[in-house]
Amino acid sequence: MTNKKGNIGVTTENIFPIIKKFLYSDHEIFLRELVSNAVDASQKLRTLAISGEFKGEADDLKVKVSLDKENKTITISDNGIGMTEEEVDKYINQIAFSSAGDFLDKYKDAENAIIGHFGLGFYSSFMVSDKVEIKTKSYKDGAKAVKWECNGDPNYTLTEVEKEERGTDVTLYIDDESVEFLEKHKIQELLDKYCKFLPVEIAFGKKTEWKDGKDVETDEDNVINNPNPLWKKMPADLKDEDYAAFYRELYPMSMDEPLFNIHLNVDYPFNLTGVLYFPKIKSNLEINRNKIQLYCNQVFVTDSVEGIVPEFLTLLHGVIDSPDIPLNVSRSYLQSDSNVKKISGHITKKVADRLFEIFKDNREEFEKKWDDLKLFIEYGMISDEKFYERAEKFSLFKNTDGQFFTFEEYKKHIEENQKDKNNSLIYLYATNAEDQYSYIKSAKDKGYDVLLLDGQLDIHFVNTLESKFEESRFVRVDSDTVDNLIKKDEKIESVLNEKEQEDVKWAFQGVIPEGKSYWVTSESMQPDDMPVIIARDEFMRRMKDMSEISGGTGYYGNMPDDYKVIVNTNHPLIVDLSGKLEKKTLTKRSKIDEEYEKINSEKTELENKLNKIEKEEEKPVEEKQKLEDLNTKLMEVEDKKINIYKEYGQKQKIVSQLFDLALLSNNLLKGESLNNFVSRSVDLLKK
Ligand code: ADP
Repeated sequence: MTNKKGNIGVTTENIFPIIKKFLYSDHEIFLRELVSNAVDASQKLRTLAISGEFKGEADDLKVKVSLDKENKTITISDNGIGMTEEEVDKYINQIAFSSAGDFLDKYKDAENAIIGHFGLGFYSSFMVSDKVEIKTKSYKDGAKAVKWECNGDPNYTLTEVEKEERGTDVTLYIDDESVEFLEKHKIQELLDKYCKFLPVEIAFGKKTEWKDGKDVETDEDNVINNPNPLWKKMPADLKDEDYAAFYRELYPMSMDEPLFNIHLNVDYPFNLTGVLYFPKIKSNLEINRNKIQLYCNQVFVTDSVEGIVPEFLTLLHGVIDSPDIPLNVSRSYLQSDSNVKKISGHITKKVADRLFEIFKDNREEFEKKWDDLKLFIEYGMISDEKFYERAEKFSLFKNTDGQFFTFEEYKKHIEENQKDKNNSLIYLYATNAEDQYSYIKSAKDKGYDVLLLDGQLDIHFVNTLESKFEESRFVRVDSDTVDNLIKKDEKIESVLNEKEQEDVKWAFQGVIPEGKSYWVTSESMQPDDMPVIIARDEFMRRMKDMSEISGGTGYYGNMPDDYKVIVNTNHPLIVDLSGKLEKKTLTKRSKIDEEYEKINSEKTELENKLNKIEKEEEKPVEEKQKLEDLNTKLMEVEDKKINIYKEYGQKQKIVSQLFDLALLSNNLLKGESLNNFVSRSVDLLKK
């Protein structure tokens, strides 16, 4: 043959406009596809050399990418196996075209969800070119070089040319819309992104050197890739430093060192290699996401592995390389793919195994890193049942003294002391060791242990644990008085009688600021417990916290912050206050009591009378109305009495002082109230 013209195996109209148009956003992948082809051709030659089929030199394999801005071309050259004329006809005119056709068909179904449009292959070059030229010479003895040319319609030409070296040069004549790809930095960026770990050396121009005030090219090729990345090596040959160095290679901008790594290496029933790193995850989950890079035989595919690994694992960093992950399907389809399921399950297991191994082999080290690991492990346990089952063995609790326990150890630790009268095991916890100091102290003084659950996910985690642990509850230390946190059968004798308790309660209600949701209750506690305690109901608080996490709206999100003010009516100060209260208000009260009695007996009389009439409709209307009026009056008198206590409470500095102290130990005393408290305290000291 010399000159040949033909028609690429197209039966319908032109495919190229479609390629150009519909993959618009991902035009850049042409470079990955062409460089991958060149790498494949090189590796095939290497294989032939090993098998002895190719007798020549196969050590100098290299792919070169060169840019000619003036002539608007990009050339990808390799010294791989090349193609004979027949092969060009078969692979480029027929197979490559039909695979592009297949790809387009599939793409239609999968909509925009394909990962990186893998497999479009050679024809992706037409996304950015007016014309593409292939010059190729096969490695086979006596092969003649040929040139294939095509300008984007189904017609091509094939001619014989001169070419000394074995291999293939693909030259793209970049079209006017794609001139950005003629910029050196752009090509450098794409090579860095897609080709960084391809298994054959890729050179992009020459290395430059600073000489006589300017950058000059040297003779040395500018190799942009590492053909032998760490994840392809044997774990036994690698040291910790190697893993650390590779982490820096992957994330040159990262300041943090990873905590641990896992080397993945499976070849049955699927093929998977890779290295995963546990980063330090302190607070922001989102910035840690999407750092895992997915490769297919060392070709970069994507850095979004969502759908391929469980969500919590997307917090890890590193590389996964597997030719068994289908890339031409939508992400929603991915999750149902059996290989992907197996791969995802395997990775989850490996991650759990590795954590368990570190826990077992070096618990001290594990505990040291716990704070950085905790968020990741809890996230996994909350979201992945399988991971929960595995992590149960090594997940830790940290108490407010900084001691660590496994779940089992902790259960043993508190079992004896922290069961309530219904035999529920109560896990006490604090979310802030400073703010909740006084509550933690009271609980500890009583011989209880308090967990520190101050992590971002702990509210959710507590719910998960409650659903897993049998007959157990988590109760925050500040949600009630220490005796009520774990309700036992023991009853504390009350010093004040019921009426006195009620009166004291009203005295305190008198100092509650307007519009605040503080509800005063009284309780007979130990005389040496605090005189006034502020608590927040566990259930309400948790509901509010949860709704806050999910955006702060909804029923609970809109509820005011409710606090219970609990007055310890056995505390000497309160007993003393009660005595004074009863004495000071006596005259006013007896007058009101008299009035009350009068109305009340009138009411009882009327009630008795009305009760004698059986049928409701026969009861006289005026008398029924009168009874209602009497009831209203009674309430008014009651209110008057309450106001006496309230007024008394307002006048007694000790009431305000005790209430403020309780607020203060909750970090709730602020602004003007805090200022008033300080002035009052100073006044009290003067006396
Ligand atoms: P794929 O690579 O998925 O097979 P392509 O359309 O990229 O599809 O390429 C079609 C075929 O053309 C390849 O399988 C290969 O046989 C041949 N080919 C492409 N590029 C080269 C090259 N640089 N050297 C040798 N053969 C090549």
